[in-house]
Amino acid sequence: MVQKLKLEDLPLQGKKVLMRVDFNVPMKLGKILDDSRIRATLPSIEKILEKGAALILMSHLGRPEGKKDKTFSLAPIAKHLGELLHQEVFFAEDCIGPEAEKKAQKLKPKEILLLENLRFYPAEEDPKQDPSFAKKLSQLADFYVNDAFGAAHRAHSSITEVPKYFPNKSAAGCLMQKEIFFLSGLLETPKHPFFAIIGGAKLSSKMGVVLQLLQKVDRLFLGGGMVFPFLQAQNIPIGSSLSEQALVPKIQALFKEKQIKDKIRLPVDLVVADSFTNDATTRIVSTKDGVPEHWQGLDIGPKTCQVWKEELPTAATIFWNGPLGVYEFPKFSTGTDSIATALASLSSTRIVGGGDSLASIAKLDLSGRFTHLSTGGGASLELIEEGHLPGIDALSNVSNKK
Ligand code: AMP
Repeated sequence: MVQKLKLEDLPLQGKKVLMRVDFNVPMKLGKILDDSRIRATLPSIEKILEKGAALILMSHLGRPEGKKDKTFSLAPIAKHLGELLHQEVFFAEDCIGPEAEKKAQKLKPKEILLLENLRFYPAEEDPKQDPSFAKKLSQLADFYVNDAFGAAHRAHSSITEVPKYFPNKSAAGCLMQKEIFFLSGLLETPKHPFFAIIGGAKLSSKMGVVLQLLQKVDRLFLGGGMVFPFLQAQNIPIGSSLSEQALVPKIQALFKEKQIKDKIRLPVDLVVADSFTNDATTRIVSTKDGVPEHWQGLDIGPKTCQVWKEELPTAATIFWNGPLGVYEFPKFSTGTDSIATALASLSSTRIVGGGDSLASIAKLDLSGRFTHLSTGGGASLELIEEGHLPGIDALSNVSNKK
């Protein structure tokens, strides 16, 4: 991957920095339910202030659909960030326009201004609607930093258009650098044996990444709803489990390549249920026998956990994305919990991406036991699949550094 400028490379003393962050935190009635995304940006914020710059922060929150809707206001986040940093964080009630301009202009070194939700303007998500939106944002500062890895796969104004106004002056923040380091390391120089575990609901949403990983990994473990099209491809009955018949020919073609087929690890048994509820009646079935009619597979089975737990320690690198069952129901979280716990105890490089996998790790209080927990589920998968992301491409190349 092309080397990008880092925040540390910018001469920031006495300058103004416009930094895109991902403050899209879960909120209820104006209260922040989980501030980990805010905390994740503190290293960049602190570094910029240490360098004697004034900092203007911009983010989206939720889906206000291009309208000014106070339910999606970032004002509570300005207050919370101020508490975390023990300093006042000024707030502009509009991300562009006279108030934002005046407040940005008045901002002194080491002061912080947070702009209101970018998505109050339709041009944030659809830059073509108004190219002047990005230009107005860019006029607030001297340098641009992107620390919003979780949004870097989106070609939005603040991600891909604003940096165009900062040639040789747009850099990756600390969090972005960390994500690029670990994920591009997976792509370019993974230590072998390299294993990946992919779970989640629909194979169709992850088919690109599965195909890409099959070229790179030594083993690919599949759990969750991903499994059923692979069973359909072998004419194994799936009952009323998630079905994606359209993918079957593609999988049958994959199975014809021995080298690829040998890498794929499907569960050897499944927990099947008579309904999609936590109090469903359940049974364990052997995968080769399939899922009985009217039953659905909702978790990997105990034998699978045992077999996988014996094989996983032989890897030097492991990437995991997606729960291995319907982990929201305690009855079907055993497979995910058991594999998460096993991964936490290994000493190999273990990288995890995706909100659901991270939530299960957090629930088990194992967050500190992994090499890297990626803050961007969609972004990390797209980076693995495509090898690059629009938000990273938009940053200045190191070779262009003056
Ligand atoms: P994804 O966003 O694709 O990673 O999917 C996460 C969702 O997959 C979670 O909400 C899980 O409940 C769901 N999931 C995992 N295993 C299954 C399964 N066997 N059947 C249906 N949904 C599943």
